[in-house]
Amino acid sequence: MPTTTAVDIYDEIEALKVREDAAILAHYYQDGEIQELADITGDSLKLAREATKIKNRTIVFCGVHFMAETAKMLNPEKRVLLPDMGAGCSLSDSCPAPALERRQIQLRAEGRRFQTVTYINSTAAVKALSDWVVTSGNAEEIIRRVPEDVEILFVPDRHLGQYLIEVTGRPMILWDGSCMVHEVFSVGDLLRLKRRMPESLTVAHPECPTNIREQSEFVGGTEAMIKYVAGYEAPTDFLVATEANMLWQLEAKVPRHRYHPVPGVTCACNKCPHMARNTLEKLRDCLALGTPEILWQPQFERAAEVLRRSLLDPSK
Ligand code: SF4
Repeated sequence: MPTTTAVDIYDEIEALKVREDAAILAHYYQDGEIQELADITGDSLKLAREATKIKNRTIVFCGVHFMAETAKMLNPEKRVLLPDMGAGCSLSDSCPAPALERRQIQLRAEGRRFQTVTYINSTAAVKALSDWVVTSGNAEEIIRRVPEDVEILFVPDRHLGQYLIEVTGRPMILWDGSCMVHEVFSVGDLLRLKRRMPESLTVAHPECPTNIREQSEFVGGTEAMIKYVAGYEAPTDFLVATEANMLWQLEAKVPRHRYHPVPGVTCACNKCPHMARNTLEKLRDCLALGTPEILWQPQFERAAEVLRRSLLDPSK
């Protein structure tokens, strides 16, 4: 019997999308073959905002759990499917809600006045304990909206927090969390690449540690990275320090440049194992079976309020 090819699966997914009245949203860190058939691709901020404009009854979120959860919180009336319910996030895992609550109680007991600013890579329960939710795309703007006379508790990414301290000049109390992909870029390999390609420019995600950011010509979220490279007319070599599937998106959007992944210390592929749990087969199956589905949880209500205020309504 012939094996099912990717083309067959593409056809099946297209037919199921129509049958289920579904739209597919895919994060830039998904495999290129999934990004290829998505209705919308983007970073966390873009996808959260776009999810609120979807007219279809079903959203299939090709990303990790907290992203699909965010889409559900912003669209309670829609069915939100995640191809693999086990697609988690090491950064989100590094800040469990009970631990955050204990830290907040401790700070209040010390008489500290603070607001909690939470990176979107976090659970709904953590978002519900927060004053603001930020992405790498809007973090600076939100930080500047926190009144000067209160402290900021920033969770969970210590590298993004450190970067925000540097660019905004606001001191912050940082949570000790990090992303397993961005944490392991090798500065030695980056410097070797730079020596081999002295004309190259390095672009790094703010989740990268300081030693990588210091060697980069540009630091910004994935959406900002696309804008940055698009600003260069002449074909250029870019060294890219973020999840490796981002190269697919850069090549698709700005193909005149050459993109080279910055290797990691332990693994040269820099692929997020959580994102990689979603496959074309699982995408097809979740559409066909209507599961796994993100179901509404009690903590979503308060978290959705914080999300809307932070991501959808910058005037408040
Ligand atoms: S790349 Fe890092 S932050 Fe993004 S989903 Fe994977 S583990 Fe989480």
